[in-house]
Amino acid sequence: MNEFNSIIMRELKCSPCKKINREYKIIIGTNILKKNLLELVLSYEPDKIIIITDSNVEKLYGEKVKNLINNQIPTSIISMPAGEKNKTPEIYFDLCDQVLQKKVTKRSFILVLGGGVPGNVGGFVASTVMRGIKFGHIPTTLIAQSDSTSGGKQGVNTKYGKNLLGLFNDPEFVIIDTEFLSTLPKREIRSGLAECIKHALCQDKEFVDYLINNLNPETEYSDEVLREILFRTLKAKLEILRRDPKEINEGKILVYGHTIGHALETISDYKLTHGEAISIGMIFVAFASQKLGISNEELVNIHQKILKKCGLPISIPEYVKKEELIKQLKYDKKYSSQMELILLNSIGNVYSHEGKFGYPINEIFIEEIFEKYF
Ligand code: NAD
Repeated sequence: MNEFNSIIMRELKCSPCKKINREYKIIIGTNILKKNLLELVLSYEPDKIIIITDSNVEKLYGEKVKNLINNQIPTSIISMPAGEKNKTPEIYFDLCDQVLQKKVTKRSFILVLGGGVPGNVGGFVASTVMRGIKFGHIPTTLIAQSDSTSGGKQGVNTKYGKNLLGLFNDPEFVIIDTEFLSTLPKREIRSGLAECIKHALCQDKEFVDYLINNLNPETEYSDEVLREILFRTLKAKLEILRRDPKEINEGKILVYGHTIGHALETISDYKLTHGEAISIGMIFVAFASQKLGISNEELVNIHQKILKKCGLPISIPEYVKKEELIKQLKYDKKYSSQMELILLNSIGNVYSHEGKFGYPINEIFIEEIFEKYF
């Protein structure tokens, strides 16, 4: 395995339970699952393996992945119904029940196979059943490969909003195989690219140039381009997480565009994909930076250019009313006494004041942006 294909990440530390520092591997490549999975899993000497996935991914890849290990270790598949709407506490409990019915022990190992939804839910199940069973991620969407399986956030949505129930816990490894992306609908590829673009805009001007040169609305990407995008995105993300694993200050960069995006995603009743909602959210905050005078029109233009280049939406759907947006923002978990947005001064330069990231704003400001620019 060459250096390009392998990055090692230091573990997110959880001092309250005095976890020891450890590293886990994120392996990026094409057609690498067969070669790496069995070896990695066997190193944990598990008594059994449970694959948690969703109904779509099970049909496409369930048996294939199971067959890679089943002749060495007893392996079974548990599947949740696909889709963000099913990222619920009820489904989480149901999966926990199913895992427990399999008579798991502390030596069992869970493989979470799928996109960000089964990734987050399956990771939450693995982290909580019997106070935690070891698990590894095999992400199959671009969002899951570029973002949701690194960073240790596991959880589900509740009726009050997205990701409101969950915890931080790291997997043992993440195997990112771009081969899975060959069956992913174009809309989902675009959705994943939104998170990659986010990292480029916030952290890396050169990456912005790379994306502008390589993105296309037809979503035709070679494995080489996909690997490069994934590698650069994860490298940027890991840099932030090393400094602020719990996303308390600088780590808030990772939710660039997400405050507005999450609200839009919920209001749209998930008709907007995660990445589409984040795309609009990033445009919204670029306008906010311009309006506040901390940045200029050039920033908005670059946002529009790069997002359009890969076919992502840049305007708020007509059915979203500003009152609804404000109401939803109040449910956002980061909304405490003060609403705040992560803003950019320029590409690669995130706004901070006296070392604090996040710009405090109020409802009137949100309304003004909504009315003026959308
Ligand atoms: P998803 O898991 O619902 O996948 C999207 C669709 O693609 C589903 O229908 C799925 O069945 C299907 N699919 C998955 N892999 C496929 C493949 N290889 N071929 C064909 N179809 C495939 O959603 P997502 O877009 O991967 O992720 C969105 C979720 O990730 C959201 O819940 C979001 O909150 C979460 N997320 C979490 C973090 C984090 O840090 N924890 C970060 C970003 C996103």
